[in-house]
Amino acid sequence: MIVELISIGTELLLGNIVNTNANYLSVKCAELGFSMYHQVTIGDNEARLYEAIETALNRSNIVILTGGLGPTSDDITKETLAKVLQRRVIMDEHSRERIQSYLDRIITTNKIIPKGLAKITENNWKQALKIEDSIVIDNEYGSAPGYIVEDKDKKILLLPGPPLEMIPMFENNILPYLKNLQDKVFITRMVKICGIGESTAETMLIDLIEGQSNPTIAPYAKGGEVHFRITAKANNEEEGINLINPIIDEMKSRFSNNIYTTDEDETLEEAVVRLLIKHNLTLVTAESCTGGLLSGRIVNVAGASDTFKEGFITYSNQAKIKYLEVNPDILKTHGAVSEETAREMAIGAVKASGCDVSIAVTGIAGPGGGTEEKPVGLVYISCHISGKTFISQRHFKGSREKIREHSVVAALDLIRRSILEIYD
Ligand code: ATP
Repeated sequence: MIVELISIGTELLLGNIVNTNANYLSVKCAELGFSMYHQVTIGDNEARLYEAIETALNRSNIVILTGGLGPTSDDITKETLAKVLQRRVIMDEHSRERIQSYLDRIITTNKIIPKGLAKITENNWKQALKIEDSIVIDNEYGSAPGYIVEDKDKKILLLPGPPLEMIPMFENNILPYLKNLQDKVFITRMVKICGIGESTAETMLIDLIEGQSNPTIAPYAKGGEVHFRITAKANNEEEGINLINPIIDEMKSRFSNNIYTTDEDETLEEAVVRLLIKHNLTLVTAESCTGGLLSGRIVNVAGASDTFKEGFITYSNQAKIKYLEVNPDILKTHGAVSEETAREMAIGAVKASGCDVSIAVTGIAGPGGGTEEKPVGLVYISCHISGKTFISQRHFKGSREKIREHSVVAALDLIRRSILEIYD
């Protein structure tokens, strides 16, 4: 089944709003196993929309249109589709009543001033019109209904533009309808990797990727991590899982500790917190160039308080000496951005807090401050655990923001690897 998406709205073309509907619907259609070859964005222009719908109907089985279902004269989606299909637009009494009570409720619950503005205008009834022989879908969160129109073997879905209206309508009404059209099930699993770059990761799997048909393996680079999505097409769930499992096992043997999770929803910080809690370990952070970003990521995890006890932001040399007892001679001899300072920060944080594990980050986030010997992006990370100190030296490229973000990912990864080294 081929699906095509048409997003309608001049403000999308002008860049005034981001097309989050396209993002959402693409993900959903891929999960359903539909192929999407084209996405079109069109302004509120009848001739161009007519042409886009005609083209989509010629090359796709399912066409999803979002936006342009409202009451104003520039909302032309329904009317234009009716012209393409050569069908009439007729009054739908059910929608008329529903819109009446929806607008009555808004008018009585909102104290609109001046009072004269609080009335239903004639153009509101435009939203109660439906294309002949179409299925009307009530909008739980707005006035404009959605529609399913079937035309020979083609299915056309009309959804309101506002995401807060479109998403519930899609979840509750469209998803079951689309699932019915799909006789295969699509099972997906995620393998998330940290510590090796996208091209290295892909090279390590190149024979599997090149030979893939079912399941498929798709890599994504994501903020310092690499994710592989494995998707199997099958007659039932069990068959899909049986197709996927051997691939996951093969990836585990090739990537071993570089995989931090195979759970689609688990983030790196969640995996780290889970590991710390599993081993009953408490954590302290000592941050310089990340300035709290690392602690923030950890605190994002619900239940982090079971392991994360405190954090030091020691941006200046004085703070490193004052709170972490970094030896001033080390700072003088090796500098704040050095393996030695990172080590001292990690050991000092454990001493100052009494925690089991510490993670320290010191680096040059730029754009200034780099030298030939110590360029922008040079970062030292240290993890102290059970009397052992692990060090990672990294050189990140990019903006200050990117260097700080990648430092956080590398720090989370070092906590994970250090625990695995000691305990597994
Ligand atoms: P309404 O009943 O509100 O008039 P509509 O179906 O006519 O709904 P539009 O008028 O096209 O929808 O868009 C209304 C608002 O919905 C836009 O101003 C925008 O905030 C949001 N919106 C529309 N399309 C999209 C989209 N593709 N992605 C994200 N938001 C969108």
